[in-house]
Amino acid sequence: MTATILDGNALAKKLRADFKTRAEALLASHGTRPGLAVILVGEDAASQVYVRNKVNACAQAGFHSEKILYAPDVEPQRVFSRIAELNADPKIHGILVQLPLPKHFDSDAVLKAICPGKDVDGFHAENVGALMQGHPRFIPCTPYGVMKFLAEAGIDLKGKEAVILGRSNIVGKPMAMLLMQASATVTICHSQTRDLAFHTRRADILVAALGKPRFVTAGMVKPGAVVIDVGINRLPDGKLCGDVDFAAVSEVASAITPVPGGVGPMTITMLLANTLEAAEREAR
Ligand code: NDP
Repeated sequence: MTATILDGNALAKKLRADFKTRAEALLASHGTRPGLAVILVGEDAASQVYVRNKVNACAQAGFHSEKILYAPDVEPQRVFSRIAELNADPKIHGILVQLPLPKHFDSDAVLKAICPGKDVDGFHAENVGALMQGHPRFIPCTPYGVMKFLAEAGIDLKGKEAVILGRSNIVGKPMAMLLMQASATVTICHSQTRDLAFHTRRADILVAALGKPRFVTAGMVKPGAVVIDVGINRLPDGKLCGDVDFAAVSEVASAITPVPGGVGPMTITMLLANTLEAAEREAR
């Protein structure tokens, strides 16, 4: 079997064109331009790229955006004060703090300082709780993107075995919640799981989010499974690869996301979706 490749760039392009149209309509009807503020503390090269991509994506979709940069040794109080200002700023509908933060920051406290109605990453405890209860306000962008992929590919999740590798707050846990709410039977695996391959071989839907290059091999995948590769790993030669051995697993799976060009572009796209939805909600 040769798997269908789920093209994240193509789906992202289609969705972003729709968001642009919706943003123009919102501006025309209510004078509101969706606005996103992105806070970056420190000089981490990967974080700088992520922030730049987010700001560029906003510009292309016709959104307002603000990039707020701090030196790595900034006093946390300065960041908290800025978040408070952004919480009250009517031009801003979404606030995102790029993680990870330097060690002298209490990341949980920072995420909690963002007004839940502007928490477009969906990491505030109030929004996590709403997601758990099945009436989400903001769905964390990466799992939201994965659900869009599955919907777009017409994959019926009801009663399917879904196995997730990784239990982080930003990917694994919300992913599990969304798949469960879509009536899949969900198993979450992590570093302490015994006989990982036993679980992965049962999966109709396999989501890899563990951050280990090409960890998932063809022998770990059930023939015909849908494989979603969330991982982004930089190899010694500078190239990017996912958590799945793409070449080998493509011969076994029925559908697979590539890296790059799979989940990555969808994550930023769903950040735009959350920002737009926040702006539309406020204008209503
Ligand atoms: P974390 O490091 O926070 O979590 C990794 C998870 O994988 C943990 O739950 C860990 O288990 C589990 N794990 C690690 N090793 C193994 C193993 N050998 N077997 C089974 N489970 C294991 O990572 P994130 O969730 O933040 O990110 C995961 C990957 O996804 C990374 O490559 C990251 O770069 C990428 N990513 C991609 C995004 C995108 O837009 N495409 C967005 C966000 C992340 P334990 O809890 O026991 O330690």
